[in-house]
Order: sequence, then C-alpha cells, then structure tokens
Amino acid sequence: MQQTIQYIREELAPYYPETEISGFVQMMMDRVFGLSYTQMILEKDRVFDKEEQAMVTAIVNRLKTHEPIQYILGVTEFYGLQLGVKPGVLIPRPETEELVEWICKTEILENSKIVDIGTGSGCIALALKNVISNAEVFAVDTSEDALEVAAENARQNKLEITFKHANILKWQEYEWQQFDVIVSNPPYVRECEKGLMETNVLEHEPELALFVSDNDPLIFYRTIAEFASKQLNEGGFLFFEINEYLGDEMIELVNGLGFKSIELRRDLNNKNRMLKCKK
Ligand code: GLN
Repeated sequence: MQQTIQYIREELAPYYPETEISGFVQMMMDRVFGLSYTQMILEKDRVFDKEEQAMVTAIVNRLKTHEPIQYILGVTEFYGLQLGVKPGVLIPRPETEELVEWICKTEILENSKIVDIGTGSGCIALALKNVISNAEVFAVDTSEDALEVAAENARQNKLEITFKHANILKWQEYEWQQFDVIVSNPPYVRECEKGLMETNVLEHEPELALFVSDNDPLIFYRTIAEFASKQLNEGGFLFFEINEYLGDEMIELVNGLGFKSIELRRDLNNKNRMLKCKK
C-alpha cells in the first residue's frame, strides 16, 4: 500500500498539487479496492498484486491527461448519495451541495412539487428527494444522455423522480403542471471566462452544460424565471446557482419579473453563487 501510494504521488506530482493527489489516492482506494481511509491506514503494509497494480497504473495514466477522476472511476458523491457520472454530464460540485442545503433549510410545504431544470446527473433532484421524502420531484433535461444517467442514479439510490425530456428555452411548447419549488443550475460560464477554467473542465466536461454566449449570458435565467412566473404557485420559491460575476444582474432580472424576498448567497469560496426568491 505504502509503495503504491508513493508511486501515485511521484507520478502525479508534476501534474497536480499535493492536496489534490491525496484526494485521488483516497478516491481510488475507496472505489477500486473498497478501502476506507481508516482501512488504508490499518492495512498500510498490504502489497497489491500485479493486476491491482495495473489498475492503479491505468488510472494514473488517465489522470496525467487531466481526465477528471470522477469520470475515470464513474462515480462521485453528492450530498451523501453515490452518483454515477460519465462524460456528457457535469460532475456535481460542492457549491451545488450548498444550494441543496439552502433549499432543505427553507420552509417548504408538505407534499410540495419540486422541479429541477437541467438536472444533468440528477444530483439536485435526487438529493432533494432523499431529504424531503414527501415531495414530488421532477427533473428536466434537454440531453437524453443526461436523463439516462440521472434515471440510473434514481434507480440505484431507490429514489422516485419523474423525468421529462425538454428544452427549457422552448418551454411554451410543452405541457407543465404547477410547482412549489423551481430550482436550476443552468449553464452560466461566459465564453470570455474560458481562460479562467481548469484543463480538466475545459477538455472533458460537456460544453452544453457549462457555456453561454458573452452577449446573452442570462438567457437560461431569464427563460426559467419567466417559466417560474407562470408555473410557480403563489408563495413558491425559485432557486438558482449563479455566475459569481452576475449577482447584481440576477437580482435585477428577478426583481423585474416581480419576484419578492430576493436573497443572494455566497459559496464556500466567498463568491456570489446562489439566489433565492419568492413568487
Ligand atoms: N460551477 C461550474 C464550473 O465552474 C459551472 C456550472 C454551470 O455552468 N452551471 O465549472
């Protein structure tokens, strides 16, 4: 074990900071060999056989190309759930867990109807259903691949979600019911912000889930807020994950559409990341 860990550290040192490598080691040991952090320490003298060593080498080689570890291992953790992920769905982020936390702490009526727009891996919808079990949760995406991943995640976690294949930019073309909570983490990274992004995100994660044009970066928010003006029940909540640089514009947008009790929240990196408002 110690030798293998040493090998991983040395091989990846030119590519990643030490703390990130420690995270990779833990995830690899957990997913590939079923060893928790404690077991890793207890079994520090364990020697991996040839086959196991070959698995580690294969993962290390893929990490050197900046492929995200979550895609390599095919899983990630989100708000206490194990979720399958693959290229084509965005890897759930810790900031999004903070948004889920905010929703879970909000006074939401019994048996609420909740919809997650642009569900991707299904992370928000599944985490909400897991915590607010009496809610009826819906999840929408324009990508059929994403819906497949999300549906499989719902099955694996034994959570009941109603999925809908729809392009929210054309929401008027579909039939909808009324909701009590609408939540979305839509694409919000402007083309002009690409230079600030990490290679692993830029080269491996789905553009469809990430980017918007520089000249209309709030296109999804405007459309979803208009959708919410119609499809949200009186007193219902609209929650967004947002671009940290567009907090003021977001407030102006929802204010202009008549939403009340508008609140902006910072994420763990102290960036404006979430917005909540009420109809
Ligand atoms: N927070 C993600 C990132 O920085 C973007 C998520 C999104 O566009 N909705 O990569």
